[in-house]
Amino acid sequence: MDLVDPFGRTIRDLRISVTDRCNFRCTYCMPEEGMKWLPRSDVLSFEEMERLARMFVERFEVDGLRLTGGEPTVRAHLPVLVRKLAELRVPAGSSSPLAGQKPDISITTNGSSFRLLAGELRDAGLDRVNISLDTLQQEKFLQMTRRDELVRVLDGIEAAKEAGFSPVKINAVIERGVNDDEILALATFGRERDVEVRFIEFMPLDASGHWMSDTVVTQDEIVAMIGAVYPIEQVPARGAAPADRWRYLDGAGMIGIIPTISRPFCGDCDRVRLTADGQFRTCLFATDEFDLLTMMRRGANDDTVAAEIQRAVGTKWAGHQINQVTFTRPVRSMSQIGG
Ligand code: SF4
Repeated sequence: MDLVDPFGRTIRDLRISVTDRCNFRCTYCMPEEGMKWLPRSDVLSFEEMERLARMFVERFEVDGLRLTGGEPTVRAHLPVLVRKLAELRVPAGSSSPLAGQKPDISITTNGSSFRLLAGELRDAGLDRVNISLDTLQQEKFLQMTRRDELVRVLDGIEAAKEAGFSPVKINAVIERGVNDDEILALATFGRERDVEVRFIEFMPLDASGHWMSDTVVTQDEIVAMIGAVYPIEQVPARGAAPADRWRYLDGAGMIGIIPTISRPFCGDCDRVRLTADGQFRTCLFATDEFDLLTMMRRGANDDTVAAEIQRAVGTKWAGHQINQVTFTRPVRSMSQIGG
């Protein structure tokens, strides 16, 4: 049975935040001192995550599971969770292209521990990896993440390629006046390292609340900057995927841009989210949530929890309202929601 929202969009992609904790302190995400972490008892166990994921996949034909955080690799024994999720099966009769198969399992990570985990995660059933990298300059990396970990992140990218992940995608959040001077360098990095760089428009989810619309470097600006040096052409039709994509005319690969602010793509959205403390969110910018964790811990059976998921999807809005006066920032910051 498909999960369809009031705008006729079928939900196919569940993002699971496996922890709110992170070993970095990115300035566009959280304050230097970090956040007030969830008590461990309030965080979904692997069994609870598996139970919920099973409902989404085997009951509602969701075929994409993305693991996020905080930083997902700081959650101990992460390959154990991936192995559990890899045992799930999209129903054979589903309209999903993955009918009868395991769901597509991906991760968004800062890459600093990926050299240690890449092989094990791959063996456990992980299919795709996105590694965050906003700068190639050591000093600026230290400023932006408050951690001197650039070398380990670059090594994490190599480890992902060596483990057979392809394409390895690089997520680069571009902030005007901070790292927009590196758009070309990041594009060149992608061409030379054979990884697909995805430039992400800065979003109002920073814990410090400093986001301003004039700090957003738009898709059009990024395309113009790169296209002036490396001729590119847009790849038609993105489907529900968040990124628009371009290919280099000289065959050196692809880039992606996620234009959340300048060209919202909510009309094709197929995503929902689960926070580390078991709150169900129908949108990254949602201002309301549905407490599945308490329901489960109070003994609710799968039918009851599934009915709550359907009820929640029935309230999903058309899209974010960032460019409108009605826009209200979510109470949670990015690290408390997961990308
Ligand atoms: S902003 Fe919300 S509705 Fe729009 S694409 Fe993102 S998750 Fe979907």
